[in-house]
Formats: sequence, C-alpha cells, structure tokens
Amino acid sequence: MVRIERNQCSKHTMLHATINHTDNSSYSTIGFLDRSVEKALAGIAAAGFPQTEILGQEPHIAAPLTGQALSDFRNLLDKLGLRARTVHAPMMDNVLGAPDENWRREKMQVLASYIQFAGAIGATDIIIHPVPNPRFVPDPNDPAIPELIGDAVPRSLDELIPVAEKAGIRILLENLPYHCDYPFLTMRELRPLVDEYPERWLGLVLDTGHAWTLKNDPVSEIYAAGPRLGGTHLQDVDFSAPNDNHWVPTHGGLDWQAIRHALSEVQYAGPWTFEVANARHGESPDDLAHITREVARGWGL
Ligand SMILES: [Zn+2]
Repeated sequence: MVRIERNQCSKHTMLHATINHTDNSSYSTIGFLDRSVEKALAGIAAAGFPQTEILGQEPHIAAPLTGQALSDFRNLLDKLGLRARTVHAPMMDNVLGAPDENWRREKMQVLASYIQFAGAIGATDIIIHPVPNPRFVPDPNDPAIPELIGDAVPRSLDELIPVAEKAGIRILLENLPYHCDYPFLTMRELRPLVDEYPERWLGLVLDTGHAWTLKNDPVSEIYAAGPRLGGTHLQDVDFSAPNDNHWVPTHGGLDWQAIRHALSEVQYAGPWTFEVANARHGESPDDLAHITREVARGWGL
C-alpha cells in the first residue's frame, strides 16, 4: 500500500495494487538477529514484504510492550506499511509441556502476556512451542519425562485458550526438530490434540525444515495438519544431512513444488511466513530478505 503512494507511474500503480491485494507472504524478524526489532522491521519492509512475524525474545521483543512503547511500536509498523501478522512466543524453555510444575506455571504467565501483546498489535496468531528442547530439561533422559510432557501440554492449553479467546488470538502449535522420544513433536502427533479444541482458537504451524530434520516429509506433515493448518515456517534444509538450517527456500534440498502443491490441496489460507535465519552462500541478512522476496514473487504470492 505504501508503494502505491510512492509510485508515480499509474500503470505500475495498478500492477502493485493488484499484487499487494493478494500478497499473503510474511517474513520473520528472525532474519535480522543482528539488529534491533525496529531495524529488522525496516529491513523486512525494504525487501517488500507486506507482513511480518515478530520474534518475542532477545534481540527483538524481550518483554511484551505496553503503554507508550506499544503505541510507538504500532506507529512504526504503520509508517513502514507492515502488518504484524503473527507473533512467535519466546522459545527456549517457554513451552506448554514443562515436565516440572513450577516451571510450567511460570511459563503460563509468560505465554499469556505474549498472547495479550499479539492481540494488542493486531496479529491473528501466536506461535508456541509445545515441547522443550531436551537441553533445557534437567534430566532429559529420565524415562518419566515423556509422560510428564504429555500430561502438561493439554493442561497448559486448557489454561491458555481462554486467554487467547479474550485477546482474539489463535494459538498455533509448531512441530519441532528434536531427536528424542518426547511426544507432540510432529503434525501427525499434534493433530489429534488440537482436534480436541475449538479451531477458532487453536491450530498448527508447519515448519518445513523441522519436519525434514526428523526425516518426516513436509508434504505428509501438511496433509496430517489438514484443515487445522493455520501457519507456516518456510525454511530450507540440506537434503541428506538436514539440521534445521533455516536457509532461503530453494537454497536447500526440499521439494518446494511438492510443498506448495500440498498447501494448495489442503486449501491453506494462512500466511506464507518465511523463517530464514542463515545464509547458504555468505549472503547478508538484507540480501536474504530480498532473495526470499523474489522466491515469494516467483511463487505468485
Ligand atoms: Zn519455526
């Protein structure tokens, strides 16, 4: 929309107006971990993305904004012509499935505060990790852990879904790339869980690179998520030794034509969120955003 005002040529104005109307691409601030959130947003706008996913931790939104800081943040988004489409809740040990009850209770408050923040900036969804990375679990190989996680996740959802409802935000649970026997790491396992809750307030977000890091085909994961798929983290990984690489889609080994086809088959209507964090060929963060933008254009987004 901003581009329309800047563009003097009426023929181009028409063209851009049409593209922007249907453009549902989004770029995560994770692409700019080398700078402040303000500068990250400027980089995303400069690459031409209409929407963004805001990282809810250092070096970006380290604590949910309120008061003047919140108004300033909303004004900045307006000025840049960017929509904060989604918020990524803090990661690390900020999970639903904390195997320790004190840990879980503490994180309920953190996650609730980010749900409220997502509502306050007009996002539609918040991405939450259901399961902890084993490196945050004090005794990660204790055989009791999987059951403790399996028990904690639905209890946490029971607490957070009313918060989401009040904020007008849908929670999206992400598939994760951990090599362990913890439950709820894949769309296949998460789908029966989310089916127990209202689709207006709970859905799934497919991370393509996480799927293949566990050697799960992103295409079958998309079908497993089906109508509950509400978000995407599009990132590429190496084909033979995938390691959650977060490369620009088409720079790794995933079959993007098949992934796009599957998304269209399940009538996916959410944002196409690019979660690019690393360069395959030494590109700068600004280069990566521009290159990704060209990939998105090539896909007709
Ligand atoms: Zn992700």
